Amino acid sequence: MIPPLPKTLPPPPGFQIGMWLKGDWHMHCRHSTDSSNNPQSRIIAFAERMGFDYLAITDHDVHVEGAVAQNTWADPEFRSDSVLLFYGAELTAPRGHVNILSAEPYDHQRIFDARNARDWDLLKLKNDLGIHWSANHPHHKNHYGFSFDLADSVEIWNTSVWPKNIPSLRIWDDQLLSGRMIGARGGSDSHHGIPEDPAKIVPLTIEGTGNYVGTPTTWIFATARTKPAILKALEQGRASVSSNPYNPRVELYADTNGDGQFELMMGDNAIPSGGPVTFEVRLSGGGIPGASYKVRVIKNREEFGTFITDPATRSVRFVDAPSPDARSYYRVEIEGPQAPYPEVPNSMAQSQNMVALSNPIYFNYDPDF
Ligand SMILES: [Zn+2]
Ligand SMILES: [Zn+2]
Repeated sequence: MIPPLPKTLPPPPGFQIGMWLKGDWHMHCRHSTDSSNNPQSRIIAFAERMGFDYLAITDHDVHVEGAVAQNTWADPEFRSDSVLLFYGAELTAPRGHVNILSAEPYDHQRIFDARNARDWDLLKLKNDLGIHWSANHPHHKNHYGFSFDLADSVEIWNTSVWPKNIPSLRIWDDQLLSGRMIGARGGSDSHHGIPEDPAKIVPLTIEGTGNYVGTPTTWIFATARTKPAILKALEQGRASVSSNPYNPRVELYADTNGDGQFELMMGDNAIPSGGPVTFEVRLSGGGIPGASYKVRVIKNREEFGTFITDPATRSVRFVDAPSPDARSYYRVEIEGPQAPYPEVPNSMAQSQNMVALSNPIYFNYDPDF
């Protein structure tokens, strides 16, 4: 079996130290020429008002010939006292789109100039610059045509329009089944704001009423409220995605030894004993009071089962015995009623029934592969 099964694994990091933080990994402001009425001041003020913890404003680098440091990052509006702002851009290349993300400024021009290089040369450059490489909308027009071996994370939910993401989910499942652990995230890819002056309304303004900061929202379980901790948690898959910030956050846990304590969460990886493992799906915060939600469990790319959350506890458990002789992963999809997002009123209909997606819990994955 390639990759081989691990003989030992470090103990899971646990979740005694950490906090849930919410944000959006993919947005365009006025420095992308296909945006409208969307200065950074508007995006950031909205995120501050809504209590978001972090944002990545990722303009198309090709619109400024790679000079994002002299445009998006140099804009005096690129600042916030409460929202952590990542340095980054959307690498916009003939082979597709990549969000380059970093806690600190880096030399984006070098990445842009190398956008058509061979992937093995891009890997060297990526390691040189110490950046996070996140595969964007793997299946859409401008699909991700680079190697997934470059990717630290993947965008499985792009914009509020859920149905067009279904093939991207399959692409992610294919990578997971091959032995790759790739953290998943969302990204609104929002381009358009609503102008205060009606004279500035353009045909695409309507998009801003259905897709904006937080459609979808990515929840990150970080060990600290810092940009490096958030990026690390994203890479580990300690994250889940909700269609909007008023919907519940899905959390997936596992008890591997039957002691009633859940010691694994999304993104964690353990060697199974062969005995039963109890999984718990929890919905936290937000949502519709009294509602039940449908939980679809995916094991190794196939549907494992469908369960319904208890309306009082907002959780559900299931049991399975992952094989000690093979790799397995389990992830969940939550369908149900959309919580209203009055600030982005047309987004709920576009997300249809999809409320939230988890990252997987892994068994027998080789972290050194
Ligand atoms: Zn794109
Ligand atoms: Zn984009």
